[in-house]
Amino acid sequence: MKNFDPKYNEIPKTEIHCHLEGAIRTQTIIDIAKKNNLKLPSYEAGELDKRVKVFDQLRDLQAVLDAFAIFQNSITSPAVVERIAWELFEDCARQNIKLFEVRFSPDWAFHGHNLNWDESLEGLLRAKERAESEFDMAIGIIAITSRGMGAESCVKTVDWAIRHKQHIQAVDLADGELLYPMGNFVKPMLKAKDAGLKVTIHTGEDTPASAVWDTIHAFQPDRIGHGIHSIEDMKVVDLIKERNITLEVNPWSNYLTNSVRTIEEHPLKKLFDLGVRVTINSDDPEVLETNVNNEYRIAHEVLGMSMEDIAVCNRNAFESSFVADAAKQRIWEKYFVPKS
Ligand SMILES: [Zn+2]
Repeated sequence: MKNFDPKYNEIPKTEIHCHLEGAIRTQTIIDIAKKNNLKLPSYEAGELDKRVKVFDQLRDLQAVLDAFAIFQNSITSPAVVERIAWELFEDCARQNIKLFEVRFSPDWAFHGHNLNWDESLEGLLRAKERAESEFDMAIGIIAITSRGMGAESCVKTVDWAIRHKQHIQAVDLADGELLYPMGNFVKPMLKAKDAGLKVTIHTGEDTPASAVWDTIHAFQPDRIGHGIHSIEDMKVVDLIKERNITLEVNPWSNYLTNSVRTIEEHPLKKLFDLGVRVTINSDDPEVLETNVNNEYRIAHEVLGMSMEDIAVCNRNAFESSFVADAAKQRIWEKYFVPKS
């Protein structure tokens, strides 16, 4: 559930794990479909919600795949990219997120309507610039390469991200870790690193601690998406700490996708108590019907973290953000330094 409890909402926040494709408002999907004559299961928001949101723990993977097909089909033009990005930034501002990183997979998101990647990025950048000035926030961009799109797509995405290095800070290897072994992706991802981009990788979400171990050794990532199953092997926890790798944790997402059996069993607090640099994020705020306030609420009210613990996670996110130092510094001084 979206949460706007002042206890969480008033905290100036950082979010570093959020997918643009999972953040499209239902009403926006309907508006775009009407304008472009696209077929939808329903043109009424309450009804369509049932097809594009996950409210209960997943039992039916096909339903989610169908939902993502609708999102992909909704991204019809660079102007739509601008609109959905703007609306996401607006939703960030509503919950007092001051430092934010948005990520998207160009080869997946722009594939449905064969959009020009550069023009689509320009749409995103227009939304970003407007949001940064209107909401006084700093925004970073991460390009995702989806494992399911194959090795060639990874090469193309990395080369594109390198070309747009002045706007894109990092690359992320995401999607189906169980189905697609890492081997084919190591070379292009290391190329991104050599070119000065930061690297984050989705691992240990629905895969065991050994996957996190292998990922760290193969890619030397700066951060890890999820990584929660590292809790199952202290050797892996120690490695994460030793390398000072930040985990981008998304508690509600992990529950809904069955990565943890119950929300109470989520290892966020355990990892925190063990000294891992964890952060708290929303992953896909529209699909999963959550927001960072709600994730903070879960951390505090369900998992038993203190508000001080949560402040440390917020600070971890700020410090490990890939956004350029100058922009971060300005936001830090204005919003994050405690006022005496
Ligand atoms: Zn993710």
